[in-house]
Amino acid sequence: MKKIIIAIDGFSGCGKSTTAKAVAKALQYTYIDSGAMYRSATLHFLKQSTNLDNLDEIKQSIGQLQLEFRVNGEGGAQKVFLNGIDVEEDIRGMEVNTQVSRVSKIKEVRVQLVNMQRKLGKAKGVVMDGRDIGTVVFPDAELKVFMTADLDIRAKRRQKEMLEKGKEVSLDLIKQNLSDRDLQDSTREESPLKKAADAVELDTSNLAFDEQVNAILNLAKERMN
Ligand code: C5P
Repeated sequence: MKKIIIAIDGFSGCGKSTTAKAVAKALQYTYIDSGAMYRSATLHFLKQSTNLDNLDEIKQSIGQLQLEFRVNGEGGAQKVFLNGIDVEEDIRGMEVNTQVSRVSKIKEVRVQLVNMQRKLGKAKGVVMDGRDIGTVVFPDAELKVFMTADLDIRAKRRQKEMLEKGKEVSLDLIKQNLSDRDLQDSTREESPLKKAADAVELDTSNLAFDEQVNAILNLAKERMN
């Protein structure tokens, strides 16, 4: 069976990353969380107090951005390292949540991160999730999936996920953040979030987790042959 690229795009909080991770594990593929890269860039700018309205400052700051994915030996979980420091937890907080769409619309940021993503996917055998993977990063991906789900369901799932990590955030705030990001991500000039013409749409509102993973695995097996 040939190795393929699986691109999973969609709205915020649809369960793209947990699904993509499970698909990658089942196929023994590499999972790449492109959202973690935009989140890390955002944390980097926040830490450096970069003025997001000043392109020179952005260019200088992004020149000092070093990202790396490392797999944690024990559980096999993947963690993102920003300039050598594990930031997996910090990039999931509300501060980054509220700023990330502002950062991800900056062309200079996208150019650098898309280059990294293409290098990571060069050998194929990858599952990458994001907003522009099927449209911009890998327009020739063998399988493109566009995930959607009802906003209320997405917000409840995200709240549960955050609670499990000890973060208590109100449902209204989460809902607001998800819909704000969807709007910003789909209306920006650079690589807006949209379904690729050849993507398969998967509405996960009424699907159990295993069902959504299996739906993608079945499609992947078809494309591998
Ligand atoms: O996937 P996740 O919710 O972690 O992504 C965080 C943000 O990063 C998105 O809301 C979007 O602004 C940005 N992003 C992007 N392009 C990608 C992945 C994420 O613009 N490929």
